[in-house]
Amino acid sequence: MLNVYRLDNNRVIKTISSQNCESYIMKSSHSPRHEDFFPYPSSREGQKEMMGVIEEAVRDGKDICIEAPNGFGKTCTTLCGTLPWIKENQGKILYCARTHRQLDRVVEELNVISERNTEVSGISFRGRSHMCLNEFVLENADYVASVSEVCGELKTNGRCPYYENLQKIKDPEQLLENLPKRVFTAIEIVNVARARGMCPYEMAKKLVKVVDVVALSYLYVFDPFILESFMPEIDTAMKRVILVQDEAHNVPTTALDSASDALTMGTIRQAMREAASYHDKITQKFCKGLAETILDNSVDLSDEDEKVVSPNGIYESALKTSEIDEEVMPLHHMEDLGKKIRKSQLKAGKFPRSAIFKVATFLQRWIHLSKREDYTFILSSMVYGRRAKRVALEIVALDPTTITGNVLKMIHSSVAVSGTISPIYAYSEMLGFSGQSINQVFKSPFARQNRLCFIIDGIDTSYKNRSRGLFSRMVDHCVAVAHATPSNTGIFTTSYYIAQSLINAGLSEKLKKPLFLEKQGMKGSENDELVEAFKRHGENQGAVLLGVQGGRNSEGGDFPGSDMESVVVVGVPYARPTPRIQALIDYFDVRFNGRGRDYAYVLPAMTRAIQAAGRPVRKLDDRGAIIMLDQRFGTPYLKRFLPSWLTEITQIVPDNPSIIAEQLDAFFTRPQI
Ligand code: SF4
Repeated sequence: MLNVYRLDNNRVIKTISSQNCESYIMKSSHSPRHEDFFPYPSSREGQKEMMGVIEEAVRDGKDICIEAPNGFGKTCTTLCGTLPWIKENQGKILYCARTHRQLDRVVEELNVISERNTEVSGISFRGRSHMCLNEFVLENADYVASVSEVCGELKTNGRCPYYENLQKIKDPEQLLENLPKRVFTAIEIVNVARARGMCPYEMAKKLVKVVDVVALSYLYVFDPFILESFMPEIDTAMKRVILVQDEAHNVPTTALDSASDALTMGTIRQAMREAASYHDKITQKFCKGLAETILDNSVDLSDEDEKVVSPNGIYESALKTSEIDEEVMPLHHMEDLGKKIRKSQLKAGKFPRSAIFKVATFLQRWIHLSKREDYTFILSSMVYGRRAKRVALEIVALDPTTITGNVLKMIHSSVAVSGTISPIYAYSEMLGFSGQSINQVFKSPFARQNRLCFIIDGIDTSYKNRSRGLFSRMVDHCVAVAHATPSNTGIFTTSYYIAQSLINAGLSEKLKKPLFLEKQGMKGSENDELVEAFKRHGENQGAVLLGVQGGRNSEGGDFPGSDMESVVVVGVPYARPTPRIQALIDYFDVRFNGRGRDYAYVLPAMTRAIQAAGRPVRKLDDRGAIIMLDQRFGTPYLKRFLPSWLTEITQIVPDNPSIIAEQLDAFFTRPQI
């Protein structure tokens, strides 16, 4: 074979004379550095250092955990720190985030980088339910039969035209070359694919093989089932993958959720009806016995209640009640029947769903995991909407590191970044990072004079202290803050009940500004309308948004500039001390050297509070006042969990709304830096 080399734009290009005359870039004439990718004329304080630290850690194959505040430019900095290694080693960056908006932001930043360095490519990737064009699938998918299952069946049987059209393109490189650019959001891919009559999801899957950066949901990496099927798609050895965990404070919970599962009484009843229609006596008898067992065990549960149960005890009791011999192996029988039902439904042009299949596969896992100490098994009772009761068996995972650790073992290195990851050693441990990993905190680039944080001494919102007098006092503080703020204010309470209690204590009557209330169970579109209406008041004397910590607006909402200039964080949002929380505390005590309560109970609460506190300071020139309305935030015990961007501006002030109003007046009338 004859190899031809030529110099092109300072790079050595190797052209291989072969049958298809394929050419590709072999090697850069110098090792790329982060400076080769950073797209802006100047950097903010700390950005260069962060890029350098990441680049070095990645070159050494080390994991790195970074805390840097909002407005720092974390996404661009992280991309520029990781791109050199993957360009040099033909690797791939899997950039994980939680929301579609966050994923699109990664691609937007990469787009800017690609204007400086045209070799860079990337996409944001979404699941089939967000990219599929097949109406039969979209109209029928539900929790019993997912889009992916049905899509798989349609593809196997050659019954999706969008898939068939895409199959005509064999070479992913060629696909990328024929597209108008090299960096795409998921929506842009949908539009391009729709115009060509091709499946956007399958198109994205082809592109994943050849682009440098794939922005995707955590689930593709931390759900073991999804990971197993997704990894072969990237067409890159795992040892050449860098995993970025954006907003990494969410990862432990996401990992636990992905390994947990639930089986509701509703699904069991559905399985009984399905079995009756197929005249299957074994399934009918077993599901009836299972339903009776669950109801017998739940008589002592109140509406919002749960208890730990023995997984084998529940299964054996279901067998006994149904008078089925174990040798009949009812779960295998049901799994086979479920598979047959789904196949015949699809053959008849119907959507393949089987509750029998769901019951069988859930219980097989329930029994399979029964001896594992990193799982607990719960019987729960919850009331939803108009008092519809949901009784369920739940498999609850307790160890995030069994999930994250498996992934970390496979890849080259991981970069975890967040503005809310204090104390950093705690998150580093819970992410499954080893003692060799690097932890680094970067200071806020915001001028201190533009930020202020008061912790109100003398107000303690603990359950035992709650009274009409306390709520009335809390309302006075909220009103004082809102009136002293020239634009919008956010108030985030620990629960919807507390939000309602503030209204009952006179919040709306005392406010001279419009009040917007985030309601429990509100649809996403309703919330979007509410927030848009709230934001419109920002430029015009302001309004107040009342929501909850850990809610849609306090976690994911972006409120730069006058969209929100002050925030009141009302109380410490500790979770209800349920049996699953206790199981987590007990497990973490052993797993993390006696830090069970800190990691399982206090840390999630503080992360929710800090997320809410960070809403008004989103951009470099933002001015923001943060009022922590609970003196417990100022105790040494909880102060350990506050990030440096908050502690450096925190003052403890007395419980006097008039003084707070005066200080806020002075803050907001001071010239901004
Ligand atoms: S191949 Fe694509 S368009 Fe067809 S069903 Fe699957 S996801 Fe939908």
